[in-house]
Amino acid sequence: MSTKIHTSFYPDLDIKPVDLLSYLFSNPAGTNPNHPLYIDAISGKQYTYQDVSKRTKSLATGLRQSFHLKQDDTVALFSPNTIEYAIVCHSIIGSGATVAPISASLTDSELYDQLVTCRARFIIVHSALLAIAQKAVQGTAAKIIILDGSPSTDGQLTCESMATSFPPDDFVKIPVSELASKPAFICFSSGTSGPAKGVIVTHRNIVANLQQMRDLMVDSGRPSQRPQRRVGLAFLPFSHAYGLSLFLCQSIQWGTTTVVMPKFDLDLYLSCVEKYRPDELSIVPPVALMMVKDDRLANYDLRSVKLIMSAAAPLGSELASALEDKFKKLFQTEVFCYQSWGLTEVSPLASATPNDRRDKRMLHVGRLAANMQLRIVDHETLKDVDSTQTGEIWLHGPNVTPGYFENAEATKEAFHTEVDGTRWFRTGDIGIIDDEGFITIFDRIKEMIKYNGLQVIPSELEALLLDHPDIQDAAVVGRWVDERATEVPVAFVVLKDQGLANRESLEVVTTAIHSWLNPKIANHKRLRGGIHFVKEIPKSPSGKTLRRHLRVALQNSKSPK
Ligand code: AMP
Repeated sequence: MSTKIHTSFYPDLDIKPVDLLSYLFSNPAGTNPNHPLYIDAISGKQYTYQDVSKRTKSLATGLRQSFHLKQDDTVALFSPNTIEYAIVCHSIIGSGATVAPISASLTDSELYDQLVTCRARFIIVHSALLAIAQKAVQGTAAKIIILDGSPSTDGQLTCESMATSFPPDDFVKIPVSELASKPAFICFSSGTSGPAKGVIVTHRNIVANLQQMRDLMVDSGRPSQRPQRRVGLAFLPFSHAYGLSLFLCQSIQWGTTTVVMPKFDLDLYLSCVEKYRPDELSIVPPVALMMVKDDRLANYDLRSVKLIMSAAAPLGSELASALEDKFKKLFQTEVFCYQSWGLTEVSPLASATPNDRRDKRMLHVGRLAANMQLRIVDHETLKDVDSTQTGEIWLHGPNVTPGYFENAEATKEAFHTEVDGTRWFRTGDIGIIDDEGFITIFDRIKEMIKYNGLQVIPSELEALLLDHPDIQDAAVVGRWVDERATEVPVAFVVLKDQGLANRESLEVVTTAIHSWLNPKIANHKRLRGGIHFVKEIPKSPSGKTLRRHLRVALQNSKSPK
């Protein structure tokens, strides 16, 4: 079949030719400078729009003058969610440099790898994570700058001290000719295979996606009910593209008050809904399941909620309905629970369900964002399939990354380039699109596993397991459990000494492997699906692990420890 391009159902937007900070701080007319932008969910401490703008500009001056931050520098940001996060992040970008937001759950060796991958010249660290960062920077080019607190006794400046002592200066303007190539962020993702890579998110990518998001979530997507998004509750990590774009960027542009939680806690979350009265919640499927199952919802007044958006992993239609029913029963309110679909590589939003099409809520992840194009392709023949068949989804648009940072090989693999030079990003997601433009995602052909909405990268775990003295070979795949856990990583392991593999000692071996591995990895990467001991790992003639065979073997086996 010849090329079949599906364009967005929505009219093209005029993508503004400006850099990220010019866009963010070109705030909606009339925003009150005293309007709170970031509020700490626990302490109630807050920064107003004026505080954020002034502190961001002062810190940018401090970073340029005291640390000689240059435009081609990358600065890693290693912190849990705090109300200072946006200030630090945007001061780096406002200095003309690039931010690499890094998950606060990483161990020192994982952090080391990411610092090397993005060639960080500095790492800004929250003091709670300082010990991990101090170990991680050994052997890298990165110098530590502490995020919080006043200057230490040796006089070292912190971000907090610079944000309050340096004069606010104008942000560096990125020339229009560089908007499509200059990275604002480097975010980490495994892409379709291999280890974590630095996804380049350019100024144009993120400005385009913020406009596309606004269009999907307000202008075109909510024609009959335009929520103000006065308030957002942020427990999603700011280091992941979903939390980053929604709460660090869109919130500032919309003037949304963002209530910041360092991590998810149901009582804190529900009490914030009651107190701050958001009209929309942005969640992931495990939170949807918790809200359906937990009786504590009845203890709070959640009547402000009208929309619930779930993303980062599939949300079953039964669960979405159960959540709507629960709101109806407890609060007599009509809530529309819908999905959006995104990827770090598309900065990140690709589609969402409009709320005037409740009939299309079930199963679908909505319609493609404006200015985007999509193809459904047989991933083996690379030919477009006909509209009744599923295939790999390929994407094109102004929000699609130009590629992985200093990784030409991975970039080449991730794109299909046509003879006319058009580049299609290969998502690794299997889906279908109907004649009204609604997309359904059925499966993932890429190696990535998603636990709790967070990426687990099989090749990373496999490389570690191969370092274990008793392990000869290893492969890791995901097993779908339910919407609470989503997928869990399962390891298949070949022992060097097959004699160890008698039933009794296997428990001991399993425990020993878990105890050896767990300190080396972030909590969400643990082998929660257990370890299977096998005689060999199925491989293709070229030596590639046949993951599909392992997934089939999983379906036919009992869960191990
Ligand atoms: P990340 O780059 O971490 O955002 O992960 C992107 C991947 O998450 C996508 O390629 C999908 O496999 C998965 N994903 C995100 N949103 C959804 C969704 N609504 N339904 C199914 N899978 C999703």
